[in-house]
Amino acid sequence: MLNPILYAVPVFLLLMALEYAVGRLRAQPIYRAADTVSSLSLGIISQLVAVFTKLASLGLYTLVFDHAAVWRLPMDSVWVWLGSLLAYDFLYYWYHRFGHEMSLLWAAHGVHHSSEEYNLSTALRQTSTGFLFAWIFYLPLALAGVPPLVLVVVGLIDLLYQFWVHTRLIGKLGWFDRVFVSPSNHRVHHGQNDYCIDRNYGGILILWDRWFGSFAEERDGEAIVYGIRQPLRSWNPLRANSQGYVSLWQALRRSRGGMDRWRLLFKPPGWQPADKLPVRAFAGIERFERFGLPLPPALAWHGLLQLALLIAFGLHFLAVAPTLDLAIALGYALAIALQLAALSRLCEQGLAAHRFEAGRWFAGLLLLLASPLHGKASLLWWLLAGLSGCWALHLASRAAFRPPVPPAA
Ligand SMILES: [Zn+2]
Ligand SMILES: [Zn+2]
Repeated sequence: MLNPILYAVPVFLLLMALEYAVGRLRAQPIYRAADTVSSLSLGIISQLVAVFTKLASLGLYTLVFDHAAVWRLPMDSVWVWLGSLLAYDFLYYWYHRFGHEMSLLWAAHGVHHSSEEYNLSTALRQTSTGFLFAWIFYLPLALAGVPPLVLVVVGLIDLLYQFWVHTRLIGKLGWFDRVFVSPSNHRVHHGQNDYCIDRNYGGILILWDRWFGSFAEERDGEAIVYGIRQPLRSWNPLRANSQGYVSLWQALRRSRGGMDRWRLLFKPPGWQPADKLPVRAFAGIERFERFGLPLPPALAWHGLLQLALLIAFGLHFLAVAPTLDLAIALGYALAIALQLAALSRLCEQGLAAHRFEAGRWFAGLLLLLASPLHGKASLLWWLLAGLSGCWALHLASRAAFRPPVPPAA
């Protein structure tokens, strides 16, 4: 069976284009090219990683289901499906809540919140290390006899539902905002304003938040500032995935050991032993500045085109991965992830970024030619590669990558 994400991606891309167009019509800037490249890169990498980790976490679930389930629920009952979805959503609430309120889990989940924008591309900004902990939270379903296939399907429904709520274009929806997760209440979840912190964890139902005391309604008079209080300040998807663990490791090394180490892992993010001041105090949202210089239009379009190419590679990988040897699959996935990381460097407009970019493209082409995969490539794939190569050379030759001159103070 083909990976269902393959069918969802075109719909996601169309809806993002629509959101961008409506934003343009309303003269409301919703997207920034570099942020979109960064968020979608994280989405692609999380799917690449899932190919290798899905089997392990599903295997553990199946093991518990086979040997410890109190009974087996039948798959031909609609009530089993509905009940499982409800139970999954309840467990998702707790998994997500721990993801914010326990440092070790925040190191994985913080990735989803590290964008300082809020649009449909933010929904696809997914962590690549969630597999380390997520499976533990869903084991009660295995014990209750929910078959593995039902778990996979309801998990997918819960995840796909959350796509549409990542938009600023849909306002408040009345009673809906108090029963279901909606754009309004999920915007609060992504805010760094005081009233937004640790609120609205639900996946499909927001009722869990209202029952367990974590609900906050969006305030009309207070604009939400999106992002996290220890900002990432990078477009690099590999850095986004590792920063949480790096800062946790640094905090562990600074600690005196003993119980403090355990507390650092299991207490909420930012917790410090009483005799130490926070490492980097939060300066307040009034002083917050979004990361990133605006990209010159030529560079923005080039970045998006390269991203489109890498999305095509990613989809190709997902489609052929089940037929590949492990070593080739790992090499292919790694090549895509490194290309995405290199693309982020271009968006950060570091020194000699344009030369680096031309090198990135040639390295990608050589890798493609050298790999045993090119025999499996479709015509579309080659077309995209050719088109993108022309653009890269064209833009490089016109030195279109020069960073913009900052406005005089
Ligand atoms: Zn969250
Ligand atoms: Zn979200």
